[in-house]
Amino acid sequence: MSTCILWFRNNLRLGDNTPVAEAYSRFDTVIPVYFDEDSWHNTRWVEEGKGDHRKRFLMESLSDLNSALQNDSSELLVLRGVDPVKALLELATKTRATAIYAPKEFAYNERQVERKLTDKAKEQGVSVHLMTERTLYLESDLPFSVNDIPEVFSRFRGKVEKRSRVQPPIEEPEVSSFDPFDFDLSSDGIHLGDVAQDERSAVPFAGGTSAAWEQLDFYLWESEHVLAYKQTRNGMVGRNYSSKFSAFLALGCISARQIYDELKRFEEEVESNESTYWLFFELLWREYFQWIALKHGRDLFTAHGLQPEKPLKQGFNARAFEKWTSGNTGDPLVDANMKELVATGFMSNRGRQNVASYLVHDMGIDWRAGAAFFEKYLIDYDPASNYGNWLYNAGRGNDPRPFRKFNTKMQAERYDPNGEFVETWT
Ligand SMILES: Cc1cc2nc3c(=O)[nH]c(=O)nc-3n(C[C@H](O)[C@H](O)[C@H](O)COP(=O)(O)OP(=O)(O)OC[C@H]3O[C@@H](n4cnc5c(N)ncnc54)[C@H](O)[C@@H]3O)c2cc1C
Repeated sequence: MSTCILWFRNNLRLGDNTPVAEAYSRFDTVIPVYFDEDSWHNTRWVEEGKGDHRKRFLMESLSDLNSALQNDSSELLVLRGVDPVKALLELATKTRATAIYAPKEFAYNERQVERKLTDKAKEQGVSVHLMTERTLYLESDLPFSVNDIPEVFSRFRGKVEKRSRVQPPIEEPEVSSFDPFDFDLSSDGIHLGDVAQDERSAVPFAGGTSAAWEQLDFYLWESEHVLAYKQTRNGMVGRNYSSKFSAFLALGCISARQIYDELKRFEEEVESNESTYWLFFELLWREYFQWIALKHGRDLFTAHGLQPEKPLKQGFNARAFEKWTSGNTGDPLVDANMKELVATGFMSNRGRQNVASYLVHDMGIDWRAGAAFFEKYLIDYDPASNYGNWLYNAGRGNDPRPFRKFNTKMQAERYDPNGEFVETWT
């Protein structure tokens, strides 16, 4: 009987998931495992640990995946407080597994763990299979090598749109049964926290694949809000101004290809317009930041970012930073957005750009402190998107414009003309 370990990371779903499909098609027994760990890119400015809503969304997503596995008499082992590399190899020894299947991640820390695992597993005679599942394109579909990825988004987009094709999603595999007791294994269990949703939340749904498909159905087919996306996407109040797919994508409850596939079907069966294209355009931004993270590795997390020659102007002031994090800077737009983030785990894209600009360019604080705070609280935290966007907004990433300072007063007048957003969070 052949046995392998299936290591779930930020790919918490069964459909369109290459490592999942490969593991179940090749092995009689598959042991699904997840490590609840905090792999922080920056710990200098914020206390370690996930914010309440980020934790809640993750637990809901794990619980949903576990239910899907349980339908086929399998079970997700959830382990906490252990070193994944050590634990995976111990698990392989104990269960006589000969292979480990896992998604390939794109950010530096996560890739370091992969390297360590691959080296150590080799010594033990266990093969490690890391497979791409989180992007629209595979590396082999890109019209350039990772090292040659253009530093400017528009060039990346132009070439990819012309020369690459998004492959159709792959089928969900038949899950084989797995009983932890057969191997004398026990899981830490999945403990759903009891964090209540704030009634003002723009993301009032739970984590997990079921909720991801409900939101996709709602945003496309049911409400057809997607048809006005280009006009509404800079909004800040409520559920409908943007897709709210980000947290599901960050944890892999749904894949970018599944969303793309559904979007194309919607365009064929209902309507295709500038807005439906714009949703794809935004998915390309996500795509771009993933590949840029892979290309630049550690640089994405350093103070200089992708512009080592540019002098550093920002420093750190704990009292000022505390005002920013607690929503007490005195700038109504910034404060309302920061309050929303802590209360719900979400902030609109318009809000994120404004609070980032304010921290870096108005308060003179090191961009990494802000990125670390986002890392703690965002339910859609994704290392490539978060650090890529922060660098971009701090003027240290791949932005053709040298200085991206937002005038928060003018932004409030333009995007919150009636003060509805600020009032909601005051
Ligand atoms: C400082 C800063 C930090 C950010 N941190 C994150 C993060 O940790 N995780 C994250 O997913 N997004 C991040 N973003 C990007 C963006 O703000 C969110 O993806 C978006 O607000 C999520 O809402 P939505 O799903 O309704 O997006 P929509 O507007 O509906 O867009 C659809 C999808 O496109 C992708 N997308 C849209 N804009 C961007 C962008 N600028 N960069 C990357 N992907 C994008 C997301 O996957 C999103 O779900 C950050 C932006 C800024 C300015």
